[in-house]
Amino acid sequence: MDTFLETLKNKGYGPRLLADEPLSRHTTFGIGGPADWLVVVESVSELAELRLLARKYAVPALVIGEGSNILIADAGVRGLVIVNRCAGIEMPKAGVLVAESGALLRKAARWSVERTWEGLEWASGVPGTIGGAVVGNAGAYGGCIADNLVWAELLHPDGRAERAANAALDYSYRSSALKRLPSSARPLVLKAAFELKPGNAAELERRMQGYNHQRQERTPSERSAGSVFKRTLQFPAGFLIEQCGLKGYQIGGAQVSPLHANFIINTGGASASDVAELIALIQRRVQETHGQSLELEIEFIGAWERETAAVNQKGTAQK
Ligand SMILES: Cc1cc2nc3c(=O)[nH]c(=O)nc-3n(C[C@H](O)[C@H](O)[C@H](O)COP(=O)(O)OP(=O)(O)OC[C@H]3O[C@@H](n4cnc5c(N)ncnc54)[C@H](O)[C@@H]3O)c2cc1C
Repeated sequence: MDTFLETLKNKGYGPRLLADEPLSRHTTFGIGGPADWLVVVESVSELAELRLLARKYAVPALVIGEGSNILIADAGVRGLVIVNRCAGIEMPKAGVLVAESGALLRKAARWSVERTWEGLEWASGVPGTIGGAVVGNAGAYGGCIADNLVWAELLHPDGRAERAANAALDYSYRSSALKRLPSSARPLVLKAAFELKPGNAAELERRMQGYNHQRQERTPSERSAGSVFKRTLQFPAGFLIEQCGLKGYQIGGAQVSPLHANFIINTGGASASDVAELIALIQRRVQETHGQSLELEIEFIGAWERETAAVNQKGTAQK
C-alpha cells in the first residue's frame, strides 16, 4: 500500500487523496463506513489510470458513481474507492449520444430531450451515473438501458480495453453480464453510446413531465437506495411486503417506507447492519407468507464479514 500511495502522490493525486473518508458522504442512503483511501476523478484517463495502478500494486479498488444502488458495510471498504465524476456528454453523430460513465443518467436524459431526441426520457428522474446504469440495466416506465445502448467502452481488470456491443452485455431485468461478475473481476465502464430517434419536442417534454410527476408522488423523500428488491415474476416486491404488514416496520434507524414498501429509508443515523437486518426479516416474512423469495436489487459492498456476525448477535426489532 505504501508504494502505491507514493506512486499516486508522485503522479499528483496527493492533494485529492482522502484517508478514512466516510462513505456515508458518497451514498444516497447516507450510510457506509470509511474507505481507507478515496479519490474523486473527473477525467476518463485518470479513472483508467487509477484502476490500472491499483491492480499493478495489488490494492483493491472500487469504482462508484452516485452510490444510489449500494449498501456499504459499517466497517467500510478496504483499499481505494474511486468516485467517478467524468461527466462528458456529446453527440458525435446524429442520433448517437455518447456519455462518459460518471455523467448523471438524468442529465443525459434531459440533454437528449432538450435536443428533441427520443429514447431516454424515462430516465429523467432516475438517480445515478451512466456507469451504474449500464452495469445494473437501470429502467423505469417501460424503458431501460438495454433498449438503446449500442456499445459500452470497457476496461478489463487485466488492462484490456474493449468496445462491447449490447448483445455481449447479456442484459436482463435490472442485471447484466457485468453485474453478475464479482466486483473484483468486473470491467470498468468508461463510456457508453445510446441510439436515439428524432422526436417531437412537445411530446417528449409532456412525457418527461408526466414521469417526473409520478416519481414525485410515489418516491419517498427520505434517504434510500431506491427499490431494495427486484420484482418477482408475478408481483411487485412492494406489494408482497405490504401484504405482510411490514410498511413502517423499523429496526434501529432503518424503516420500511410507509409510502412505498420496496424502499428502506434511513430515518437518521441508520447503520448498514440495521438495513441488513431489516432486509433479512423482510425476506423471511415474504417467504413464510407468500412462498416467494425476494432477490436483492441493491448491492452489498465492502467489509461485511464482521457485520454479519454483529447482525446475528444483535437484539430484536421494534415497531
Ligand atoms: C430515490 C431513488 C430512486 C431510484 N429509482 C430507480 C429507478 O426508477 N430505476 C432504476 O433502475 N433504479 C433506480 N434507483 C437505483 C439507482 O438509481 C440505479 O441503480 C443507478 O443506475 C445506480 O447508479 P450509481 O451511479 O449510483 O451506481 P452506484 O450505486 O454507485 O454503483 C452500483 C454498482 O455499479 C458499479 N459501478 C458504478 N459505476 C461503474 C463503472 N463506471 N464501471 C463499472 N462498475 C461501476 C459499482 O461498483 C456498484 O457495484 C433509484 C435509487 C434511488 C436512491
